[in-house]
Amino acid sequence: VKNDTRGGYAFYSSNMNSQFSQHLDLEMGLRRALTNHEFVIHYQPQYDTQGLHVCGIEALLRWQHPERGLLYPGDFIHLAEEVGLIGQVTEWILDTSIRQMKAWVDEGIAPPRIAINLSTLDLKRSNLVDEIIDSLDRHGLPGQNLELEITENLIVQDINMATQRLNALARHGISIAIDDFGTGYSSLSYLHQLPIHTLKIDRSFVQDIDPESTGRSVVDAIIAMGHSLDLTIVAEGVETQEQHAWLAQRECHGMQGYLFNRPMPAEELQSILKTSRPA
Ligand code: C2E
Ligand code: CA
Ligand code: CA
Ligand code: CA
Repeated sequence: VKNDTRGGYAFYSSNMNSQFSQHLDLEMGLRRALTNHEFVIHYQPQYDTQGLHVCGIEALLRWQHPERGLLYPGDFIHLAEEVGLIGQVTEWILDTSIRQMKAWVDEGIAPPRIAINLSTLDLKRSNLVDEIIDSLDRHGLPGQNLELEITENLIVQDINMATQRLNALARHGISIAIDDFGTGYSSLSYLHQLPIHTLKIDRSFVQDIDPESTGRSVVDAIIAMGHSLDLTIVAEGVETQEQHAWLAQRECHGMQGYLFNRPMPAEELQSILKTSRPA
């Protein structure tokens, strides 16, 4: 940066350098995070229509970065996909949540299903299904305790591959949820072609539930369709009593959001599970 007669250029180039090195830092950090056990899982419960009992759990990835503090998936999942590390990250969160679920079963807490988010790239890996089944077997947890959240885009990209992989998973009792339902390129025809168990209504629609909004009709339509196709409907991002009441009236099966709980460490969820699960 000694060429001060071309300050503009020097500024531009050092800025590019720092962006580049930040990217490299993060990439090296991600590799280190896997070996140094810096990833953690925060668990968010899903409640039944009444909002009384926990009927599901979603595992959400966090990175306890040694210098930057707690990072959210929005800060690093995209990079993990880009540099080819997402497979290892998915394997880690799957195995760790399955182990945690088994520990709860062993403690006499009958946990509901746990949902894991899959990246679009995960289903493209030919060994994904084996990885999941191996992990369930190793920990002695039945497939009925596991749900995988995928997006519509993934299905549309390669319907044949999706059909093959999802059927293999369903044969092991694992259920499939469509995440962010209504926001992707959906054709809807896949809904009865594939072993789909759950639709998760995207937060953007749930937040639009107020008397004058069109969001209501969208949510209404999704719930009605879910009921007639015999799918479980879960609303995400439920933040207000009004949203909860309206969804309950429509017989939405499950609700997840800050109104009930934010995602939390395992120990905190454990005490909730002990008190709010039906006998
Ligand atoms: P998502 O799957 O749609 O997850 C829901 C996100 O909404 C989570 O953000 C959750 O903390 C947040 N949330 C829950 N309730 C509320 C609410 O009432 N209000 C608001 N405003 N937000 C709420 P998070 O944990 O930051 O995750 C963001 C996204 O990152 C997830 O969106 C998911 O697509 C992705 N993600 C999270 N964990 C994983 C993972 O292990 N693997 C992959 N591939 N992606 C993940
Ligand atoms: Ca999700
Ligand atoms: Ca979602
Ligand atoms: Ca979402």
